[in-house]
Amino acid sequence: DRLIDATEKTNEDSIDRAIRPKLLADYRGQPHVKQQMEIFIEAARTRGEALDHLLIFGPPGLGKTTLANIVANELHVSIKTTSGPVLEKAGDLAALLTNLEEGDVLFIDEIHRLSPQVEEILYPAMEDYQLDIMIGEGPAARSIKLDLPAFTLIGATTRAGSLTSPLRDRFGIVQRLEFYSVEDLSHIVGRSAHYLDLEMCDDGATEIAQRSRGTPRIANRLLRRVRDYTQVKSDGTVNADVAKQALDMIDVDKSGFDYMDRKYLLAIIEKFMGGPVGLDNVAAAIGEERETIEDVIEPFLIQQGFIQRTPRGRIVSDSAYHHFGLMPKKTT
Ligand code: ADP
Repeated sequence: DRLIDATEKTNEDSIDRAIRPKLLADYRGQPHVKQQMEIFIEAARTRGEALDHLLIFGPPGLGKTTLANIVANELHVSIKTTSGPVLEKAGDLAALLTNLEEGDVLFIDEIHRLSPQVEEILYPAMEDYQLDIMIGEGPAARSIKLDLPAFTLIGATTRAGSLTSPLRDRFGIVQRLEFYSVEDLSHIVGRSAHYLDLEMCDDGATEIAQRSRGTPRIANRLLRRVRDYTQVKSDGTVNADVAKQALDMIDVDKSGFDYMDRKYLLAIIEKFMGGPVGLDNVAAAIGEERETIEDVIEPFLIQQGFIQRTPRGRIVSDSAYHHFGLMPKKTT
């Protein structure tokens, strides 16, 4: 498994839950999102209405689930959580919808992976709070309509482009999460260290933040590895040196790349002369799935300017060559 795989959500333990911010005020970074959500939440609460449906998109580990939970918390309502691939049949969604109470939040992670049958049920539910479902089969089949309580659907997705447009159009609010600055990540690391009872110097937090690929989930994960290292190899305080040694040991480099990132960049540089190269060819060269490359590996590399997605394929930039101490290819 990739150590810094931001998609990995299993094994969330009590520390993870303690670290996860519960209020908008503790949700670090994302100033535009916070500013808008504060107003929308306050307005809905004052009117005593359900908040408009909210779509959150951004790469894994940036805080979509956290934000959904915060919204429910701030609205003082319950949240029911599920995900696109889990909802196999229309009845699965119907069961969830009929269990909601007035104003509740239904959170669907990976909403781009809903099946068409389930998505059909969602349209009238979102638009008119109506459940419209077929029961039975053959000549005995009939359709039933039920009124649902006014609720808020929060959908999260790593790829807004994969949402069907009828679904996307039914969200009144759309928020896009950005990668976090080193400063915000240092703050998140400091806060988590506090929960872990770990003494953390500012420069130690910065060192971890710099290698976290702009992603809070990765920052918290690296922090745990640094904590192990510190416990065994040093006096218990995390400074920049200790953090550097720990992260070098687990092979996360100064740009936060792990072996998959390096393998991806080096494949384009060495096997495809720096590109342009099609995604399928890179995927085959490194033995990784297209979707993982697009959703997990590439977004940060693009944001940092290490690669470009062009109509002709992926191209690595000079900074990628420099990262490996190589001479950039001469453009012809
Ligand atoms: P996503 O749903 O986008 O994959 P999560 O919401 O599960 O990401 O966030 C991953 C972890 O990162 C959370 O457990 C939380 O501790 C931390 N986190 C995310 N966003 C923030 C934030 N804005 N401030 C502080 N911590 C955050």
